[in-house]
Amino acid sequence: MPELPEVEIMMRQLRARLRGRVIRRVEVCDSKIKLNGELRGCRINKVWRRAKYIIFDFSHGRHLLVHLRMTGWFEFEPPPKYRLALHAGPQSAYFADSRRFGVVELLFTQDLIKRLNRLGPEPFGADLQVLKRSTRPIKVALLDQTLVAGIGNIYACEALWRARIDPRQRADRLRRDEIRRLERSVVAALQKGLNYGPRIFQVQEFYVYDRAGRSCRRCGTLIRRIVQAQRSTWFCPQCQRR
Ligand SMILES: [Zn+2]
Repeated sequence: MPELPEVEIMMRQLRARLRGRVIRRVEVCDSKIKLNGELRGCRINKVWRRAKYIIFDFSHGRHLLVHLRMTGWFEFEPPPKYRLALHAGPQSAYFADSRRFGVVELLFTQDLIKRLNRLGPEPFGADLQVLKRSTRPIKVALLDQTLVAGIGNIYACEALWRARIDPRQRADRLRRDEIRRLERSVVAALQKGLNYGPRIFQVQEFYVYDRAGRSCRRCGTLIRRIVQAQRSTWFCPQCQRR
């Protein structure tokens, strides 16, 4: 599943190709996608990201909101199968999504604002002391998009390892300095992903994510996998002790 760095990298590629261009044609190839409105002839004024949403602002005041979910992705050459294509000037973007959970909606500004207002602050430079409002384990609280938006399973695990915090620790029991350490660790983990650029899918390496039974890169202890709120958590039982 694409996480925040992947979505940011995707958004930057879309922005570089499509911003300022006029939509020539839109192809909707999946009946699950219903665009209630016309885009042909509209200029793409802005392409931006909020949490894991990619948003296109159009000259007629409407917005295309895209969430990639499990397998959504944009290609710039036509793939064998795609759900949607935007043809803008000489450029085209094809929304490929084998599992079809990705969401594409055309919204009015007030509906876009309503949707995005439900999300917590962006994790880059966010004040994570809000996590202390939660009595759930810190790993589960980190995934609550209303507290902080855009952190997924991979980066929650990676950030907790960096901060040496036990993922099972109750969020409200963490000390302020531990939360500060976690803030820096979240940014560092996301930044590491961003630094890979478009190569991220081929080359990304993790400290704990999906490394059960392998040695901790810091202390050599074997990484453990547990399940919290139906999601896998990987951590080092030595480095991340209460
Ligand atoms: Zn360790």
